[in-house]
Amino acid sequence: MESANNTNSSAPAAKIRVRFAPSPTGFLHIGGARTALFNWMYARAQGGTFILRIEDTDSERSKDEYLDEILRSMNWLGLNWDEFYKQSERFDIYRKYAQQLLDQGKAYQDGQAVILKMLPQQVKIFDLIRGEIQFDTETIKDQVLMKSNGTPTYSFACVIDDALMEVSHVIRGEDHISNTPKQIMIYQALGFKMPKFAHLPLIMDEQGGRMSKRAGAVAVSDYQRQGFLPQGIVNYLMLLGWSPGNNQEKVNLDAAVKKFSIKKVNKAGAAFSMDKLMWLNTQYIKELPVGKLIDLLLPFLKEKGYGDQFDRVWLEHTVKLYQPRMSTLLDFMDWADYLFEDNVKISDEDRVKHLGRDKIEGFKLLSEGLAKLSSFDHQSTEEAFRAVVTKLNIKAGDLVHPVRVALTGKTIGPGLFETMTVLGKEKTVERLKKAFE
Ligand code: GLU
Repeated sequence: MESANNTNSSAPAAKIRVRFAPSPTGFLHIGGARTALFNWMYARAQGGTFILRIEDTDSERSKDEYLDEILRSMNWLGLNWDEFYKQSERFDIYRKYAQQLLDQGKAYQDGQAVILKMLPQQVKIFDLIRGEIQFDTETIKDQVLMKSNGTPTYSFACVIDDALMEVSHVIRGEDHISNTPKQIMIYQALGFKMPKFAHLPLIMDEQGGRMSKRAGAVAVSDYQRQGFLPQGIVNYLMLLGWSPGNNQEKVNLDAAVKKFSIKKVNKAGAAFSMDKLMWLNTQYIKELPVGKLIDLLLPFLKEKGYGDQFDRVWLEHTVKLYQPRMSTLLDFMDWADYLFEDNVKISDEDRVKHLGRDKIEGFKLLSEGLAKLSSFDHQSTEEAFRAVVTKLNIKAGDLVHPVRVALTGKTIGPGLFETMTVLGKEKTVERLKKAFE
């Protein structure tokens, strides 16, 4: 057990309480989501409590729309919380502790602000991921605890809340390491019991730079809009700094919880790989029951203006054709657009390459043959197609690609006869007839 590190092993195990503490000054980004996930997994692994604490003391930069979006993204990822707090509702508590430090002479006032005196000393912490870290506080200046507008600084509110909420483990991004010695001084001044710390490795972008909001790290809600599944994102995030072992990559949340251990988190930076995320997402799309996949696709179809009333049997058939290859839900929107649009878009390049005048005769015969069919399915369309190929004494491939382009505007896709079947007789015949107009 993790706690065996710092505590007497015969003492009863302390209750595990962790928190994710986002500031609603921006959307929930990949890095924040990874921090939330690791806290969540740790709490669930240990039968502990996962606290969501909104650090909204900066009233100018905190926005309700960001808070809503953070909550939506957390819910979408399935990271449910057990307790919820907003720091903006706790100002009285921070003021009370600031006054206590003033009364004890540990802090002083400069104008309206309350400032903590820093005593030069060596501060040592045992980080569960990074091991022992020493800080020299000589270089740390006296710290503002309460700003002149009466609001607490981040570190002051954070320490008070972590202590009062009995947070046992502070698990957060490595970018907060530099705040840790200052916070330790605040713990000491207030006489609070210190939590354990675990600083998660930075997430690097694909170029090896630091993945930051400014460097264009993407919000969780953007991934949702791009058609990723929460299962894919969550699985991907858990691999950023941790591994379930055996080179295993696809591991769902329940399985991860059973295996998760903070001590196994890597201290080296974790590199973000879009390819791996895409691969995982493909796996999760593949295993969805088709009905569930359709439910996820419907909002995208509606948003695109394709409506929301579809023949369910037809849609199932169609979606199944694409499901095995989809990396994101948007793939379906790109690949199957020709089924929902009135007119098929064919690029000039494809027109020149595939729709030469030598194909006119084949298209004419094929459209006539297909128009005569009473049942329009894989077998009957294929027979009609073979008849044309035989009659003109050409290779099937000479006609397959041009027909696919004429029907779908694309050079790749599922089997041609499946494509015709889902497109339907009327549109198939019409598009073949119009191909050379
Ligand atoms: N509000 C801080 C942030 O969003 C939380 C830092 C912490 O976890 O202590 O980065």
